[in-house]
Amino acid sequence: MRLILLGPPGAGKGTQAQRLVEKHGTPQLSTGDMLRAAVAAQTPVGLKAKAVMDAGELVSDDIVNAIVAERIDQPDCARGFILDGYPRTLVQADSVQKMLSDRGLNLDVVIELVVDDKALVGRIAKRAEETKAAGKPVRKDDDPAVFPERLREYYKKTAPLIGYYYAKGLLKQVDGMADIDDVTAQIEKILGAHKR
Ligand code: AMP
Repeated sequence: MRLILLGPPGAGKGTQAQRLVEKHGTPQLSTGDMLRAAVAAQTPVGLKAKAVMDAGELVSDDIVNAIVAERIDQPDCARGFILDGYPRTLVQADSVQKMLSDRGLNLDVVIELVVDDKALVGRIAKRAEETKAAGKPVRKDDDPAVFPERLREYYKKTAPLIGYYYAKGLLKQVDGMADIDDVTAQIEKILGAHKR
């Protein structure tokens, strides 16, 4: 199963992706996680990406496309993968399409987590507080001063993908405001219907 989880920052894509990993053993490909790892390891990509990420803006298409192209060729992706936070622009969407068709593969489904913006700001503030309480460093881009920029980037550059995938007949929407288990159940229902 090759699927994309789509939705604004804080919509719950990462949480749901992890649940899918546990249940189906399909790897989660989070470009955010991969970029954060590159920043931590101070690789050339990480050094380039850090300031952009801290400002809540999007890293260049070339960088993320290259990271994903390399990752999907790893053996654990042979049976499928969950793209979490990628693609985020139309250029990336075209790129993933090409990556897959070059390998004779296709996308099964794109699941959009539909959420209310106002709730997102609260969710992100909560995530920052919980991380702090656990004694872990808070992501700079989870700062309430930076989060609105991430939302703006989403509406400007990523939201057009909803129409893009709808037109391809691949888009399914779930109510991302429901509680976590309920969202998982909605996603499983879509995946179940797909397998049949
Ligand atoms: P995330 O953890 O998905 O919220 O991503 C954190 C940050 O990493 C984003 O705000 C961007 O700066 C960068 N990033 C992650 N995925 C992408 C992507 N597909 N395209 C561009 N930038 C990305």
